[in-house]
Amino acid sequence: MNNSINHFPLPANEPVLKYLKDSPERIALEKELEKQSSNVIEIPLIIGGKEIYTGNTAKVVMPHNHSHVLAIYHKAGEKEVQMAIDAAMDAHKIWSEMNWATRASIMLKTAELLSTKYRATINAATMLGQSKNIYQAEIDSACETIDFFRFNASFAAEIYKTQPASNFSQLNRMEYRALEGFILAVSPFNFTSIASNLNMAPVMMGNTTLWKPATTAILSNYWLMKIFIEAGLPDGVVNFLPGSGALIGKIALSSKDFGGIHFTGSNTTFNTLWKEVGEKLSTYKSYPRLVGETGGKDFIFVHPSAQAREVATAAFCGAYEFQGQKCSAASRMYVPESLWAEVKNEMTSFASQVKMGDVMDYRNFINAVIDEASFENIVSYIEYAKKSKDAEIVFGGTYDKSVGYFVAPTLILTTDPHFKSMEEEIFGPVLTVYIYKDNEVFETAEICNTTSPYALTGSVFGRNRVEVMKLCEKLTYAAGNFYINDKCTGAVVGKQPFGGSRASGTNDKAGGEFNLIRWVSPRTVKETFVSPTEIFYDYMK
Ligand code: NAD
Repeated sequence: MNNSINHFPLPANEPVLKYLKDSPERIALEKELEKQSSNVIEIPLIIGGKEIYTGNTAKVVMPHNHSHVLAIYHKAGEKEVQMAIDAAMDAHKIWSEMNWATRASIMLKTAELLSTKYRATINAATMLGQSKNIYQAEIDSACETIDFFRFNASFAAEIYKTQPASNFSQLNRMEYRALEGFILAVSPFNFTSIASNLNMAPVMMGNTTLWKPATTAILSNYWLMKIFIEAGLPDGVVNFLPGSGALIGKIALSSKDFGGIHFTGSNTTFNTLWKEVGEKLSTYKSYPRLVGETGGKDFIFVHPSAQAREVATAAFCGAYEFQGQKCSAASRMYVPESLWAEVKNEMTSFASQVKMGDVMDYRNFINAVIDEASFENIVSYIEYAKKSKDAEIVFGGTYDKSVGYFVAPTLILTTDPHFKSMEEEIFGPVLTVYIYKDNEVFETAEICNTTSPYALTGSVFGRNRVEVMKLCEKLTYAAGNFYINDKCTGAVVGKQPFGGSRASGTNDKAGGEFNLIRWVSPRTVKETFVSPTEIFYDYMK
């Protein structure tokens, strides 16, 4: 019998390892990279704890060397999606009633396995399958994934602890029930940590999931699934379903037991799912919870009092690390005339020094973009800029897909603040700059505020604190994660809970208690010690 009251104090963030030459972590990672790149593994569906091989398969390749096959994965059909719904609903009975501290212990064990035994495995899978260099893999698939587990246990403890008042005549309590149904977790390719958390945040609160991983992140996501199982996650709590999003979404959303979506990906996909839910609303047992973090058109706004080298560093890292494929990546920048020459020189100098190529060559700052469709989309923006009279390429603008999907870090300069690449999400290593007159700071900030439908991240650079604070006010609704004198990427769990508003999502802040609260449906229970036996009130007598 476990009648302990558990406390899970806020943890420290998982330290980012350095991977210096000959360090134990570097040796372990190199061994794992070698192993994973010299084997072709077969990836099944995992439904109710069972591996399912449908025979309808596709390849997992390295984006930086697309003829190199890493794995063959099996795709779910209609029958398997239904099986997964049944498995999730069966597991719901056990999991939702399980002592929450036991659920938390499985989360904490998963974090520990990722921090130790499987750190090299998950990082290597993310590097090879999603083309991240060591540092980008370490901060994502190791550190952020681990942080999500540990912080969620702590946030859950806070939620469960929050109880209504009682007195001598009555006892009140709040039961934080799991939602009455399964959660459809639909994950993007770009963060292994997000894929994990889209499942594990609802799971921490007693829910079960159908997990539709992105087809371009299957390798790392499959490893996550195996680690969840090794940590003791009961069968059917998470059901791993690679395959067509449209098919899986359609069947999952047609079930009366559909309880909610936990989504991260593009605005277009989330809108499609939301519309489908709207159409089927009357068929569900409960109003489904729709939680989605979507695209961004993230900005850097430079005040004339800023320091050019700091701006150039933030712009370069914020726009080009992981090939600009972070939802938070800087993709438009507003620079005052007086600072442009210096910012441009610093950035051009960085661009001439960085190397691009395979993740296994550790000198490479830039690796490949995720797949051919993404490559072609990014190239279309570059070509559009090359042909436009309103834009010029400052550096970059080259690309090559013969071996891997490589696009050089590209800086576009435009004279039109509404130029296509100032407004639309590109999701690649492309930053567009608009130069404004130094005496038009606040007029330009208004343009920044109203240019794009998104409001995910944004930075303001400047040393004039009064003006910087005014910009912070002016841009209140322009970003859900706002930075002062820092790049607009790199949010850390427990420090900068993440999410944006407007077209960037429901802003339920992954990495914070606001997210976990969406996965419970509280029941208030009042017990009266001595029940009344009169129907009349005193004043009536
Ligand atoms: P995507 O929308 O193409 O895909 C996301 C997931 O949805 C994938 O698993 C995909 O297979 C699935 N999907 C596609 N169509 C579907 C449908 N009709 N029904 C059900 N599922 C469907 O996004 P992506 O290319 O994987 O990721 C990039 C996008 O994600 C960018 O827009 C980026 O800004 C966004 N993103 C946002 C955040 C955030 O926190 N705001 C974080 C990471 C990525």
